[in-house]
Amino acid sequence: MIIKEAKTNGFCFGVKKAIALAKKTAKTSQKKNLYIIGDIVHNEKVVRDLELMGIKKVNSISEIPSGATLVLKAHGSPPQFYQQARKRRLKVIDATCPMVKEIHKKALYWEKQGWRVIVFGDRTHEEVIALCGYLKKPLVIEKSKEAKKIKNCQRAVLICQSTQSIDEALNLLKELAKKIKEIVFLNTICQETLNRQQEVKNLAKESDKILIIGSRKSANTRRLYQISRKINPSTFWIQEASNLNLDIFSPSDKIGLISGASTPREIIKEVKNKLLNRN
Ligand code: SF4
Repeated sequence: MIIKEAKTNGFCFGVKKAIALAKKTAKTSQKKNLYIIGDIVHNEKVVRDLELMGIKKVNSISEIPSGATLVLKAHGSPPQFYQQARKRRLKVIDATCPMVKEIHKKALYWEKQGWRVIVFGDRTHEEVIALCGYLKKPLVIEKSKEAKKIKNCQRAVLICQSTQSIDEALNLLKELAKKIKEIVFLNTICQETLNRQQEVKNLAKESDKILIIGSRKSANTRRLYQISRKINPSTFWIQEASNLNLDIFSPSDKIGLISGASTPREIIKEVKNKLLNRN
């Protein structure tokens, strides 16, 4: 069995930064009054580890006592979170990825210039919800076929969720160009995502089987899975080593191993060891 690990495996820059900030905050605050709304990043192990360090997960700001510390997650938070936190006198530790903040700024700029902002992203994903919170009239599109429904739009700017598929974004752009007179494309898919998408394509072509490792909640992991499956139907998505079904592999297999941007290296190592130790 030959295992080829992706060079991009492990945390991306934004996830690494967010986790380091949360851990540092947990250490310095001595586990007192420390809260987060939702998951810092989409990985169950990371979330569990931070909970053990004393960061309590809640669903809304109203559950956090006045004067406590609030850690904001990597995918970004809507402006209302900052306003409500100020009102409740919370100390805010902002772990938003700088690339995500950049997307907020760009979208706001174009909207202020009078352009309709079209967001290519998953409607229910926190990054998209947060971004839309900054805009007056955003239009979210999940699939290029939705472009057909657009009416009376003279000029628009297309902005992408940071973990979207570049191929899908370009397909959407083509469809939008048929409906909208002036269309500007801002490629806000982050470089880390683009690198992983390119790597999964290469791996999918040269491997017998592909293992995608990451949480079911992780949008970038899902994207890697979808891209890989189109090229290589023997693509499997697992969250951790315990999900690995060794029966599907044969000793002569060449296996490509790639992780989502929020998958810890320990999990990738456990998966690799389980594969190597199969009888
Ligand atoms: S995938 Fe990109 S935008 Fe998202 S957290 Fe990582 S570096 Fe930031």
